[in-house]
Amino acid sequence: MLSPDELIDAFAKVEEENWLLRAFLKVQEPDAVDKIVNRLHRELFAGFNCVACSNCCKTIIPVIEEKEICVISSKLGLNPEDYKKKFLVSTEEGFMINKNPCPHLGINGCSIYEYRPENCREYPFTENKKIRGRLINLVANCSVCPVVFEIFERLKKHYKVEFAEFKAEQQAFSWFDEDDDGYDDFEELEAEEEFFAEEDWAGLVKYRYQRVEQYPDDFEYQKSLGAAYVMNKEYGKAIFYLYDLHKKHPGDPDVQHSLLDALFAIGKDETAINWIVQPNILRLNNVVLDACYNSLRTKRKPRTVYDVYLELLSEGYVTFDTNQLINLLFSDNRFSVKAGDGKSHECYVSISKIPKNM
Ligand code: SF4
Ligand code: SF4
Repeated sequence: MLSPDELIDAFAKVEEENWLLRAFLKVQEPDAVDKIVNRLHRELFAGFNCVACSNCCKTIIPVIEEKEICVISSKLGLNPEDYKKKFLVSTEEGFMINKNPCPHLGINGCSIYEYRPENCREYPFTENKKIRGRLINLVANCSVCPVVFEIFERLKKHYKVEFAEFKAEQQAFSWFDEDDDGYDDFEELEAEEEFFAEEDWAGLVKYRYQRVEQYPDDFEYQKSLGAAYVMNKEYGKAIFYLYDLHKKHPGDPDVQHSLLDALFAIGKDETAINWIVQPNILRLNNVVLDACYNSLRTKRKPRTVYDVYLELLSEGYVTFDTNQLINLLFSDNRFSVKAGDGKSHECYVSISKIPKNM
């Protein structure tokens, strides 16, 4: 196993290949990936002396939960507030150790080992399930943890033939240009996909926050961060952040809609905000029925309710779902609604009769 000093240079030589391995692992069967990584974790950590390494404690800054702060501070004979002042810093992600190397790292390893934070206990996360959802962090940890580095090397041997074929196939994708930030389009798309697949909204916030820090003037990144706050149920922060964006880009519907999502989620509505430009809000009423009617009367064939719904989405902020729209259309005899097999998008709607003089 490499020493921490040897790790940086060794990682630089395989970094590109490790990112490719990540892309390869993403398309493998998730249980199979968990099984092999968990097994390698057990084999490689058996008998390994982490105290002699301690590289994670020197380079990674762990997050500490409130309940852990209470335990650690009481063991150290401090009250939680004094502990926070002395050892922690408050960040977007919560409280974190304020220094690198960690001030709890002593000559014989962690001085609070028995009650160290969960984040430290779990590191490097190779014993966990859902490994495919952690691959970005694992690749980054190859330059920190010699065991993770070795796990990646052994994975390359384990999947030798399949990985070689995958690498050859990837050359066909060389038309994906790398951006000047070192990420390529494919990588960025994949990273986002990973957070959505795992429903890791906190991870999505962190990822998008980093992008905004990198590109502070990029409006697309800014509004996607606002939407991520909403997905992560950080409604207060979302409203504050998005309202500021709304003042700068008052007519942007994406910002308006994310702001409305946050307001509705906390039981408020659009009246809670002094809009610079009022959003168009669609509710289950005659305005929506008339919009559907005017759209359908120009169509010769029935349309799926789902298509009609998509059209409404492009008109404004929709406060109802497709099933509610079906019920509304059923209630108006201007429409003929034919149910398919029960799924809303397979319901068809058309004008039942075009009144004369219209
Ligand atoms: S709390 Fe202990 S295990 Fe965690 S980083 Fe600090 S020294 Fe390492
Ligand atoms: S977990 Fe990895 S980086 Fe941390 S001490 Fe053990 S081998 Fe070193």
